[in-house]
Parts: sequence; C-alpha cells; structure tokens
Amino acid sequence: MRTLLLACLAAIWAAFAQAQDLSALARLDPAQSSLRMAGDEVAIDLALSQPVPWRVRVLDDPPRLVLDMREVDWSGLSAVPRQAGAVRSLRAGVFRPGWSRLVLELTGPYLVAQAEMDTGAARPVVRLRLAPAAAADFAAAAAQPEPPGWALPEAASLPAPAARDDSRLLVVLDPGHGGIDPGAERDGHSEAALMLGFARELKEVLLRDGSFQVVMTREEDVFVPLETRISIARAAGAQVFVSLHADAIAEGEAVGATLYTLAEEASDAAAQALAERHDRDDLLSGVDLSKQDDLVATVLMDMARTETRPRTDRLAAALEGAIKGAGLRMHRRPHQKAGFSVLKSPDIPSILVELGFLSSSRDLKRLTDPAWRASMAGALRDGLKAWAAEDASLSALRRP
Ligand SMILES: [Zn+2]
Repeated sequence: MRTLLLACLAAIWAAFAQAQDLSALARLDPAQSSLRMAGDEVAIDLALSQPVPWRVRVLDDPPRLVLDMREVDWSGLSAVPRQAGAVRSLRAGVFRPGWSRLVLELTGPYLVAQAEMDTGAARPVVRLRLAPAAAADFAAAAAQPEPPGWALPEAASLPAPAARDDSRLLVVLDPGHGGIDPGAERDGHSEAALMLGFARELKEVLLRDGSFQVVMTREEDVFVPLETRISIARAAGAQVFVSLHADAIAEGEAVGATLYTLAEEASDAAAQALAERHDRDDLLSGVDLSKQDDLVATVLMDMARTETRPRTDRLAAALEGAIKGAGLRMHRRPHQKAGFSVLKSPDIPSILVELGFLSSSRDLKRLTDPAWRASMAGALRDGLKAWAAEDASLSALRRP
C-alpha cells in the first residue's frame, strides 16, 4: 500500500506542475507549520504562501526523508515548532537552480504513510505522515530507482573543454559547499557565501594577471555534489584544482590558513574528522554515493602510478611559501593531509585551502576584511605562478 503511494507521488508532482504558474518564489510560513510526533508517527505540516510542484522519497544510510520543492524560500524553517524525537537533524536550501530541498535525518526506518498538498486551507499545506517501518521494507523503498519525471536538472552543466592555450594555466576554483549545504556558520556568515565571494575575487586577480584561465565549479549559491566538482574540473581540462574552505573545527587549536592534500592516512584526527564531515554534508544533502567505492578504488590505484603526488606536494610548498611571504597567518602545521573526496582526481594536482577557520573569531575577522582577502588572493596567485614555473621546468627535464 505504501509502496503504491510512493509510486503515485511522481504523478502528483506532474499534476501540480501543470496546474500552477511557477514563476514566483513560495515562502514557508513557520507559524502555520509544525514538526511533531503523533503517537509513533512523525507528522510534518509545511504551510506555503502558494502551491508548488513537489515530491518526496526516502533514502538510507543514514535513513532520511528528502522533500524537493520548486522555488521555496526556507528561511523560516528554524522558527517552525519542532517536537519530533524521530527527526535527528534537518537542513534545507537551494539544491539546483529552481529547486530547493528539505532533508530530515531520521533516527530509524520510517516510511511515508501519507503525503498530500492540502489546498483547502487559507494557505496550501504539505502534510506528510511517516510511520515506523521494518528495516527491510525501508531499505526496499530507499533502493527504488527514481520514478520517471523525478530527475532534476543537471547539477551543473559541464563546461566545454577550454580552448587549449598553453601559455595560460587553467585553474579550476572550487568554492566549498553551497545551497542546501551552507558549510560552517558563525555570526550570520556562512562558509558557502564567504567562499563564493572569495573565489570571485581570486578569479579576478588571476585573470588580471594574464597567466591564467579560470573555471569555477559554482557561480552561485547552489549545491554541487563533490563528485560533480571533480567532473567539472576534468571536463574543463584543469591543470590545477583549488578548493576553497573556511570550516569550523572544534578539535584542537585551529587558527590560520591551512593547506590540505589527499592521503589515505590523515595527518591527525582533526584532519580526518574534517574530511569525513565534508563527505557527510555531501551525503546528507541527498547525494547517492553508492557508486563511489568503485570510483575511489580506481582513483587510488591510478594515484599510485602517476606523478601527481609529488606535483601536489610541490604545489602545497609553493602556496605555503607565497602565503608566508605575504606575511599572512598560517596554521602552526600549515600542510596537512586527509582523504578529502573532492581532491581525488587522479591526474590533476588538487589542493584544499582552508583560508581560515570560522570557529576562530580572529580568522572570521580576517575573512570578512576586503584588504586581507586581497592579500590572500595575491598570495595564491603568486604561489600558483611559482609552482607552474617549477612544474614546467621539471617536466621539461623529464622529457627525453
Ligand atoms: Zn568546508
């Protein structure tokens, strides 16, 4: 019965898509919305300013409910009364251009027992009822392929390979997080927004220099899966990949810029935790990583037989030299290693720069200071140039 209901949801969505004019942004009305337990069921009521196309499904590992809606402003979500012990965490935001996503992480297996948009009230209300289910039933529902009509627009259209211009280094800049995944948050600042702003500034600095071509993995506040970021770099023909972050770290002292490169063995527990948190953010935002194992195995094998690792180490050394040379604050261990998924391109030197940590008030002050950001962008440009020159001379030496 419930399986049948799930199968019907795509049809419900299609009906709404046809019935509504979809241009305007719908808002969540927190006063008329609630998240609560009704007996052993989870009752979710979400009141909207207008009806929108929507669809819902469950995913496993961890168990979660994913609700996609067209153009909903979720900013009122934190004000929704919330008394549902079965909901471990929730997040919402832009998923793809034109689509927003709400993800409820559940404490166990719950299936959708009721899903409707009630348009009889003053405001349309999405009513969801989740009932406890057997683990096997839940796993079967979560494993169902997405019904026809479910597929969202592509996460990002991959840029065509850039016209080969050997005189300019093709840099892919990757502003961390975005959309439903804001990254670290502190005092009204989000890592996602700060990194997008910094990436735009760095792009300008690199282009003005004349030695670089630049491709960005995202140009706006949207969610881009980690795997897609790698695909964008590959499609662009990246010669170097720079992922930009400013995470919050609870463990140990975290102040100052830090460079992370890929390693199977993390340099310490904090670096390991940071890499795992990025994977978890990616997963919770609704990405199916079921194909990831094969990819990772292949990539790690490739890594062993390429020259990428020493080139990446020299990249870290060049950036460290330039950042210190500019008199900018670095972490007391400026180059660390961990298994960051976004750094797993086998043949593209890839580095993750924590420009600072939002958990540090001193770093937050620097990150929000335009003069500091300009110095950091200049230092990264200088480091990339120094590395490219060294890399070119070494590869010329290696040629017969
Ligand atoms: Zn981050």
